[in-house]
Amino acid sequence: MTRIESNRPARPLLEVVGLSKSFGGVSAIEDVNFAVSSGHIKGVIGPNGAGKSTLLNLVGGSLRADRGAITMDGVRLDRLPAYDVPRHGVARTFQLVRLFNNNHATVLDNVLLGAHLRLAPSILSTLAGRSGRQEERLRAKAREWLDFFGLIRTEDRAPRSLAFGQQRYVELARAMMLEPKLLLLDEPASGLNDAEVGVFAGVLRKIRDEGVTIVLIEHDMKLIMSISDEILVLAQGRKLAEGTPEAVRSNPEVIEAYLGTPHETN
Ligand code: ADP
Ligand code: MG
Repeated sequence: MTRIESNRPARPLLEVVGLSKSFGGVSAIEDVNFAVSSGHIKGVIGPNGAGKSTLLNLVGGSLRADRGAITMDGVRLDRLPAYDVPRHGVARTFQLVRLFNNNHATVLDNVLLGAHLRLAPSILSTLAGRSGRQEERLRAKAREWLDFFGLIRTEDRAPRSLAFGQQRYVELARAMMLEPKLLLLDEPASGLNDAEVGVFAGVLRKIRDEGVTIVLIEHDMKLIMSISDEILVLAQGRKLAEGTPEAVRSNPEVIEAYLGTPHETN
């Protein structure tokens, strides 16, 4: 799929309205509103404890909101059971890489798991009866994604035997098996060196250009400023600012609360 450039504003794929979530007395997300246009990368930044991961967990369905609405393509994601959110086209990776290493699970097995998340529970229970052709089709697709991430030669290895950066790509390949409309990434570049971050930026652009909308939490300012179409800034659970990288970078409140003096952000 090629990206269609146009001067018209892109329609929002995701709309979040009045979202709130607290843990005990701590208000992790407080009345947050934002939209993500279809085919855009929305960066999310903010100090530690700002509520970034909570926000992603709410959109991804692993947490229930106290208040508010999360709508994607007309579907109220916040009303779906957690297992149903991936089937509506929302894929994610985690702040800490989560890969299965037990029972001699291979890299390819881990990527194939992504496709299983997409199947309805009733189908899942009859996975054993899945046709050989279907299985072959999924394996071919999993190999395409491994190839896309430069991992095809690792397909039979145990995930833990890979370099850390490669493990992150296995997780991404698994997410892409869902054929997501929306991809949620929680600090995917943490632990990567400068050169690896540069490569990663290119990979994200390619995924975006496939038509996938991305919400990206990231600490690496160079990466987030270079790749985001728009940035949402959170502080203490609230939206502090939102706009283009240029607008956010020069916003005095953002500089005060998060970025420090402007020259430190370069
Ligand atoms: P960030 O990802 O921006 O660092 P988090 O969303 O992880 O922030 O956390 C926001 C706030 O919510 C923090 O004060 C954190 O301690 C609290 N918090 C997050 N998850 C939980 C949880 N499962 N139980 C209790 N408090 C939590
Ligand atoms: Mg976090």
